[in-house]
Amino acid sequence: MDGDDYQGRRVSVRDIGARKQAEAEIQRLAYSDPLTGLANRRQALERLGQALAASDRSAQWGAVFLLDLDHFKKINDLLGHKHGDELLRKAAERLRSITRRSDTLARLGGDEFVLLAEDLATDQERAAQQAEAIAAKIRSALAPPCMLSPDAAPIEMTASIGVTLFLGEAADREALLRQADVAMYQAKNEGRNSFRFFDPEMQALLERRGALEQALRQALVRDEFELHFQPQVDRERRWVGVEALVRWRDPRQGLIPPMQFIPLAEETGLIVDIGQWVLDAACATLSAWSEHPQARNWQVAVNVSARQFHQPDFVQRVRSTIEHHGINPRHLVLEVTEHVVLEDIDGIADRMHELSNLGVSFALDDFGTGYSSLNYLKHLPIAKIKVDQSFVRDITSDGDDAAIVCAVLAMGRALRIGTIAEGVETQAQHEFLLAQGCDEFQGYLIGRPMPAAELLDFLSE
Ligand code: C2E
Ligand code: MG
Ligand code: MG
Repeated sequence: MDGDDYQGRRVSVRDIGARKQAEAEIQRLAYSDPLTGLANRRQALERLGQALAASDRSAQWGAVFLLDLDHFKKINDLLGHKHGDELLRKAAERLRSITRRSDTLARLGGDEFVLLAEDLATDQERAAQQAEAIAAKIRSALAPPCMLSPDAAPIEMTASIGVTLFLGEAADREALLRQADVAMYQAKNEGRNSFRFFDPEMQALLERRGALEQALRQALVRDEFELHFQPQVDRERRWVGVEALVRWRDPRQGLIPPMQFIPLAEETGLIVDIGQWVLDAACATLSAWSEHPQARNWQVAVNVSARQFHQPDFVQRVRSTIEHHGINPRHLVLEVTEHVVLEDIDGIADRMHELSNLGVSFALDDFGTGYSSLNYLKHLPIAKIKVDQSFVRDITSDGDDAAIVCAVLAMGRALRIGTIAEGVETQAQHEFLLAQGCDEFQGYLIGRPMPAAELLDFLSE
């Protein structure tokens, strides 16, 4: 049967059939994931919209699960994309086997899957228990070792799962996915192969971190960091050096201390650039001091983070910074913590020897707070250990702290490594440390960290 279409052209039934088929094909492509045949992100969002409306009518809770396969990238890199794809198909198959008819299972892309579970209980606590049971089911479905090919070793599949509950239409679809993502991120962070509910505090924290990270990147571009210097004195209270301590001058918040941004900078890798800025600024200061009657003899200590130290080109960067500023490398001290050293002791030892051959020396910062395995000290070119301020603080009142400090100082003597106490605030602490043979001192008693110009004024007072 032929008929007129709305434009008056004649079309045959066969045309209509073909068009319907094409439309169905387009629908399929638009709404499903070609690799696994599951729903795709678009369909997941659409279903989630419908689920919200349904939950509004039924007053039943629903849950959005976001799963991310653990170590998928590694498997993909190691075994190749073909096996990677196969693993994703297997995961999809296993997940499909445990979903109910009313559930929606989707692949968002990569190794991320979403499971939308509807019609949970009307009571929130009960709904949460049901969600927990579903997560357990997901994990056990994925658990059996997976054979990708007859000759390859079986692969263990685990996932980190984040879940957020919803009730009614008030929730926003994208926001729910973001919440599930936050929870999943937390599950990953807490050791993978685990499951977490969304926690609004966690989200607030992540948002603050995100904003801080952005601001830190800007700070580098806008050159908002500055160095303060804190004096270090010998047993006769002569100034022998300074420690360079970074600060961030935020245009709105003013001067921000390092503890508020260094940890995040370490996590995000920004510390590599910030650390290079610090090294450069410290060497520039050394160069500026090279004509100063007193300051020309000082050593400047620079804190170096583990991540920065482990950069493949770290030695090269230190060398070229020294050359660029034309400074005497013997005036540069790198302060590292035990964490730097303990990661890969042999590799680190080589690197430290290379640097000390340049003339640079090392101080071991925050000594006593890490693992304090004394064994490595013998193998490393360490000129000084810094007794951590947490021990110095109660040195005159806490017998354990006093004993630790005495042991560290004795060990320094035995190994012929210099000692410096940090955080010396009182005369009593200073006297105790002097009596125990400590070589050098740093702390508010002697002087606070201050800008270079102020430091030189302070000296001439
Ligand atoms: P740190 O290297 O152990 O530095 C000593 C910290 O103790 C400094 O805090 C200093 O201001 C503080 N301090 C000095 N004397 C006293 C005292 O008598 N009493 C007390 N209560 N505190 C004292 P600041 O400048 O806030 O730095 C904190 C930490 O931030 C540093 O600890 C270091 O781990 C890190 N940091 C600072 N600058 C840099 C840097 O340029 N790069 C890296 N990677 N880390 C840095
Ligand atoms: Mg330090
Ligand atoms: Mg320290």
